[in-house]
Amino acid sequence: MKLFNCTSCGNLVFFENSVCLSCQSKLGFLPEEQNLVALEPVGPKLWRVAGSENSDRHYRKCFNYEVHQVCNWMIRDGQDGDFCRACSLNRTIPDLNDQKKKFHWYRLETEKRRLIYSLLRLGLPVYSQIQDPTGLAFDFLADTPDTMNESGSVMTGHLNGLITINIAEADPVKREDMRRKMGERYRTILGHFRHESGHYYWDRLIRDSEFQNEFRTLFGDETQDYAQALAKHHAYGPPADWHRFFVSPYASCHPWEDWAETWSHYLHIIDTLETAHQFGLKIQNQWGESDTFTIAQDFDAYRQPDFQMLVRNWFPLTLAINSINRSMGHAHVYPFVLTSPVVDKLAFVHQIIGSAQLMIRQH
Ligand SMILES: [Zn+2]
Ligand SMILES: [Zn+2]
Ligand SMILES: [Zn+2]
Repeated sequence: MKLFNCTSCGNLVFFENSVCLSCQSKLGFLPEEQNLVALEPVGPKLWRVAGSENSDRHYRKCFNYEVHQVCNWMIRDGQDGDFCRACSLNRTIPDLNDQKKKFHWYRLETEKRRLIYSLLRLGLPVYSQIQDPTGLAFDFLADTPDTMNESGSVMTGHLNGLITINIAEADPVKREDMRRKMGERYRTILGHFRHESGHYYWDRLIRDSEFQNEFRTLFGDETQDYAQALAKHHAYGPPADWHRFFVSPYASCHPWEDWAETWSHYLHIIDTLETAHQFGLKIQNQWGESDTFTIAQDFDAYRQPDFQMLVRNWFPLTLAINSINRSMGHAHVYPFVLTSPVVDKLAFVHQIIGSAQLMIRQH
């Protein structure tokens, strides 16, 4: 994630901020420019970037910003619709008369915007299923008698571009409980979004493509029965040697899940590398002078063509941030080991994203 400076006073501001705490300017994120800017009013509900008197570019706040304060993104005036690039993907949101549900929704939207930021930074296609059936959509559902399946709760998952999230995932106690029940090392809201988006982009970028055979060589044959594979995983757990080939136990249950887990790790890696780079992080000592870890001045993890550069930077960074977390009594930030088969799969994700970027540039 990029760091931002208030365009009015220069103060450091963060992706989620809607006010600069130094100069009190209202802030808004411009998804097209991928920049968080200070705003000044130019009319009723109409804003421009502070100090841009000569520009005729005006913006409106996303409806979920203006009315519910759960968003901080802007829409270019003249564009259709009341919702920003991220909120326009929503199909179902929780009942906002219920304050607890509204708070959970706010937590989910905050993390969802981080996903959408990453997808836009990567130059991947992001459009709403409401406009195009091949697009993305989100359902944020609460457990009610109508939504319950036989297991008794809304299943977080993906189907044909529709990502369903059980809003209970926004409750840290329930999420931790689920994490322990599922025997997972890591469970976060952002992790869910990244994982489920992996299923969507598998459909868009790999299904029936020239990459399908290479996918099968690395991840296995995805035509094997999915429901059976999942049932087997839940009944017997992962194979004893899962860690040699998979990034997580869950990844071992079916090639589709392996892909989604690997995809989400790719997003973890590039976004965390970007944040480290933005802070000018430099790690040395343990590896000796020659192995000093510094991300180059012009390093952009989201546009780094050389996959090995990402891996070389990632290993020392995880050691450092894991150790820093332990010093504060927290668990490891990144409790995973990337073996060489897993690195090969990550390289494939990198290749697929690179070819999608190329395709989009050519059209
Ligand atoms: Zn400011
Ligand atoms: Zn919005
Ligand atoms: Zn999945």
